Amino acid sequence: MIKDALTDPYGRVLNYMRVSVTDRCNLSCMYCRKKGIHRYLPSSAILSYEEILRIIKAGCALGIDKIRITGGEPLERRGLLSFLEKLVVIRGIRDVSLTTNGIKLRENLRPLKDLGIRRLNVSLDSLERNTFRHITGQDGLGVVLESIEEALALGFSPLKLNMVVLGGINDGEIPVFAELTRQLPIHVRFIEYMPSPHVTLDMRNRILTPVIKRRAQKTSLLIPIHDKDGSGISERFRFTDGVGEIGFISPVSRHFCQACNRLRLTADGSLKPCLLSDRLIDVRTCLRDSSNGLDLQTCFKKAADTKPGFCHTKNNMGLSLPVIMSAIGG
Ligand code: SAM
Repeated sequence: MIKDALTDPYGRVLNYMRVSVTDRCNLSCMYCRKKGIHRYLPSSAILSYEEILRIIKAGCALGIDKIRITGGEPLERRGLLSFLEKLVVIRGIRDVSLTTNGIKLRENLRPLKDLGIRRLNVSLDSLERNTFRHITGQDGLGVVLESIEEALALGFSPLKLNMVVLGGINDGEIPVFAELTRQLPIHVRFIEYMPSPHVTLDMRNRILTPVIKRRAQKTSLLIPIHDKDGSGISERFRFTDGVGEIGFISPVSRHFCQACNRLRLTADGSLKPCLLSDRLIDVRTCLRDSSNGLDLQTCFKKAADTKPGFCHTKNNMGLSLPVIMSAIGG
């Protein structure tokens, strides 16, 4: 146990950091970033890999031992593999994983495996070519499916498929996604769409976990899986004869604040203690301007000290993301 472990005022030990390495993305998903409307950050604002590594090392000294690399699309940023090479050998890091849309994953799978990375989350909102194109703005389903197939063949595990469920758009595919877990050792995770003031989807697109769960059980009942790692963010299930599993992530309908052990680092260098709060701790200035007298560990402690205990309204229906997701990595 680290003497100075990051603990917030509510007793949660923060050992997990999601690191966004870029806000750029090769897709423009309808619920995330609108093509031609949202501007990207200037490159001078984006942390260099060296800066990110310094921040991670400071977090590590305070007990951060689990890192998820995200974006924008992390595989869009040049030099990602060399950065990961330096990241995986940092003392104290016990788990590095990647969230990707899968477009550029296939060619990177072997190098990722050689680095010891095994945990991948691939965002996949549809198995139908036209729906995939409608949601993401790209005709990319084929390459994503090839990446997933190859990742399974190479033994990546757990391989999680994240599906943001949108009523009237892809919700008809819930049973098909669920059925995938019968034959394949994948984890399908159904995610509730979180509204954002930056994208305007029809509220009819909102469909919540109780309904998603019912539809996922179209053919047979789901058996709960008790969460051994205790993260509690997703509710986990499987079919009795299933080799994979099904998770429900319900930021809108089910509170999971009490289990939240995470901090986020934005691509432009702020620590974000809570996805749903607009609170940010500026780490970039601390790195680039030593005259402010703050050190990196102080920034981490400030992030822990200001992590909200509970940030939802009673039934969360008023919940809304304070920023576009591609800027913070989901
Ligand atoms: N480009 C990578 C990808 O597609 O997985 C990583 C970044 S993406 C922002 C991370 C996750 O956030 C994806 O699974 C995406 O579906 C999810 N996401 C983005 N906007 C969302 C929203 N409004 N509601 C729910 N999930 C969202």
